[in-house]
Formats: sequence, C-alpha cells, structure tokens
Amino acid sequence: MISDEKFQEFCAYLSDIHANLKSDQQGKVASYIPELKKVDPNQFAISVCTVDGRKFSIGDYKSRFCMQSMVKPVLYALALEENGLSHVHKHIGREPSGKNFNELTLNDEGLPHNPMINAGAIMSCSMIKRKSNPADRFNHIMQALYKLADSQKITFNNAVYNSEKETADRNYALGYFMREHQAFPKNTDLHRTLNLYFQACSIELNSEILATIAASFANSGSCAVNKQEVFKPETVKNCLSLMYSCGMYDYSGEWAFSIGLPAKSGVSGGIYVVVPDLMGIAIYSPRLDKHGNSFKAIEVCKRLVERYSIHNYDSILRCQNKINLFPVS
Ligand code: GLN
Repeated sequence: MISDEKFQEFCAYLSDIHANLKSDQQGKVASYIPELKKVDPNQFAISVCTVDGRKFSIGDYKSRFCMQSMVKPVLYALALEENGLSHVHKHIGREPSGKNFNELTLNDEGLPHNPMINAGAIMSCSMIKRKSNPADRFNHIMQALYKLADSQKITFNNAVYNSEKETADRNYALGYFMREHQAFPKNTDLHRTLNLYFQACSIELNSEILATIAASFANSGSCAVNKQEVFKPETVKNCLSLMYSCGMYDYSGEWAFSIGLPAKSGVSGGIYVVVPDLMGIAIYSPRLDKHGNSFKAIEVCKRLVERYSIHNYDSILRCQNKINLFPVS
C-alpha cells in the first residue's frame, strides 16, 4: 500500500501536470460516430484510486463520457469467467494485430487477433450470457461495472448508442466477415451480439468512476473500496496481460516499451491505467492522436513514468533517479 505521504506528493504532482497540459490543444475529437464530436474538446480530468480506496481527482472529473473501447477488458473478463480460458481462445487470439482497432482483418485461423480490438470484443459479446434475453445480457455487463466501481452511478447514453448503430457499417462488416469464417460459437445470433457490443460501448461514466474500476483491476478483481470480489484474480491476470500487449491500438508496442503498464483507451478520449497492487489511474481528454488515443492522456502517463518507478521493469533499475511508490519491505 502506498503511504499517505507519498500519495499526497503523487496527487500534488498530478495537479501540476494537469495545470501544465490544460491549455494544450493538440489532437482531434473522434467524429466517425457523429454523436461523439458534440463534446467540449477542452475537457480534461485526471483521477486516481488506490487499491485501498483512497481517491483524488482534478479537472472535469464529473464530466461523463462513453466507455467505447474501454469496456473491452470487462467484456473479455466476463466471457472468461463464464466460459473458461480455453473455450474463449478457441474464438479469439492473443496477439497484437498491429492494425487499426476496426481493421477488416482476422488472424491465420480466421479469428479476431485479440479481445482489445473491435472484432475481438464483438466475439467476447457473443460469449456473454448467450442463452439469456438482450436485457439480461446488458444488465449483466452493467452489474459487473457497477460492482467494480463500488456502486457509483454508471449510466447509458442512448444518443451515442443510436448514433453508433446507424453508422456501424464497419462493425457489421466485421461481424459478417467473422461469420463467413465460422469464427463464432455455434448458433450465435449476429445481430443481438452486435447490439450488445454497441450498447456496451455506450455505457457512460466519469473519470472518478473509471479510476475506481481500474483500481479494482489493480486489486486483483476485488472492488478497491468495499473489497467484494467481482472477477477471479486469474481472470484479471489474463486481462491485464492482453491490456499490456494490445490495449492501446496500434500504439500498443510503443506503449508497453515506454510506459510499461496495462491500459485501455477509447475513442471518447478516456484511458485507464492499472498499476498492479498499487492504484488505478483514469484520464479524460477528448482530443485524440493519430492512433485514436487521447493526446493528453498519453502525455500525462509519460510524465508519471519519468518521475515514478511504475514501469513494469523499473525494478531492474533499483529505482535509480525515480520515486518508488511501493512500500519498501
Ligand atoms: N464503439 C467504437 C467502435 O466500435 C469503439 C472503438 C474505440 O473506442 N476504439 O468503433
């Protein structure tokens, strides 16, 4: 657990970064889902929640945004818990695709490359409560998020859902492409599966709530605040491994190299980063870089890793010139 003193110092540094980057206008808001481009591009929030539930937020942390691709790790975790690892990976690979998140491509076996891109997340949806009705399937996803977030208010943005559904040619194409390759489990209803995916992407929260979810991942799948288990540690381990290698679109390799932490971004401009056994960090700023990642969020993470020993392999450096946030035993 991080000491109070170090947590205070960390939060003060987050405030400095926030002040420093606030007026930066680089990047462009996503527009391929028409409803997404209506947001105020200047919003900027940073939130953190430790594995023992201490929280800090700065900026527009009450502003709500859609999860978009940030829901993908949760869809994968739900599919894993229900179907087991080997069944899930009969239908989804575990390799980075090196391509755009919605590229019309499958791996050599005719399967989506991994669960963190659109095709893989659509496949995860096909394995979530497949025998239940659409309402129960959606509620099942909401309940998991709600529990990870210590019952904070998670909502659904119907306008984004409709906007996405109306303009989802690529996701329909991916669905048909996978069906043509017989990638789905037998008797999958493609339209219900796609609808569930669009709905999951349209779930809305704010950075404060997202940081709590990230902290629950950092806390091995038990809620960081109330300690109730939501996912098994094994599920979370698998999920974090793929967030590490595939969570940041076709910037994932560079991200793993320079930031060294599992993370997931979404085209709404949010991102969450998991520092296992320590904390979850969520950042929201809708202007995106050319990969579709929030421009400011990447900048925040670069600055954090410069100062703190949180990169997965920083332990090799024995914390030289960096602050160690982990307790020294
Ligand atoms: N709903 C978006 C889509 O399917 C999610 C993509 C994203 O956030 N990268 O295109």
